[in-house]
Amino acid sequence: MKIILYCSPSKQKVESHFFFIFTKYDRDNSMKTGIIGGSGLYRISSAEDGREITLQTPFGEPSAPYYAVENQGHTFYFLPRHGAAHHILPSEINHRANIHGFKQLGIEQLISISAVGSLQPQYRPRDMVLVDQYVDRTKASDRHTFFGRGAVAHVAFAEPVCRRLHQSMSALLAQVVEAHSAHQSVQIHRSGTYVNMEGPAFSTRAESQWYHRMGFDVIGMTTLAEAKLAREAEICFACLSMVTDYDSWHEEEEAVNAGMVLQTMRDNVSLAHDFITALLANPPVDDPACSCHHALDHALMTQPARMPPETRDALQIILQRTCTPV
Ligand SMILES: [Zn+2]
Repeated sequence: MKIILYCSPSKQKVESHFFFIFTKYDRDNSMKTGIIGGSGLYRISSAEDGREITLQTPFGEPSAPYYAVENQGHTFYFLPRHGAAHHILPSEINHRANIHGFKQLGIEQLISISAVGSLQPQYRPRDMVLVDQYVDRTKASDRHTFFGRGAVAHVAFAEPVCRRLHQSMSALLAQVVEAHSAHQSVQIHRSGTYVNMEGPAFSTRAESQWYHRMGFDVIGMTTLAEAKLAREAEICFACLSMVTDYDSWHEEEEAVNAGMVLQTMRDNVSLAHDFITALLANPPVDDPACSCHHALDHALMTQPARMPPETRDALQIILQRTCTPV
């Protein structure tokens, strides 16, 4: 069977003798938003009103079933990145499967919530940081992309979060903090550079002091991969991080340990739940023209016809918009 493929933006014509069909995934007119929860946030309070969806992906199994909750014609899908029982190490999380699952569900926007350590004095425990930059200290970048195995693409990542979604989440978070007296002491930081270490052990004091002197703001183990994969999947992405500790650079504060993180998380998680409740009541409006939704326009280096069939099959939902069979 001979099929001609056109890949935007150049509309360069390539010919393939492979039998190659892009599956048409379910895309209706309703808006869909994904939420990923981290340590301490394993379900959303409205989950009892929703339904559970178990998905398989070409990249393996997501961390857990997705919980779907609907409001005002907007569907939210929640996923706990460490699993419902918090049994998946940061380096064991199958980020590709998690984000591919969200893509299958048709989400346009993804909000990532996580716990972080502070690297600067002004980021106090219990504060909220809307992360807008990342530094990669992982050794797993080959697992933080959908590409490889005969398919090459390079997405732009200078601005790793969606500015539009970042601003709307910042405004909503400010409303939540103002509306609840229990959160009045929480300071919202609208910018912050997140060092993504691998873990599972926390930083040494030397590492933490180095990050502090470099001027980075917070440290965590998970969300950079989500930002990269969301960009490749052309999904708008924003990251809310809850500060739990001062890592181990601070001379007057106790070095971080898991008990300290969990205690602060217990305080922080009520704010996370209040934020999600507000989010469900005020669904974020997507903008189809947002540049995130066109991230692959100038990224794909390998024509699908030249990719190994199994790689092309695994990528079909990722490339569905960019490469149109005719
Ligand atoms: Zn966007």
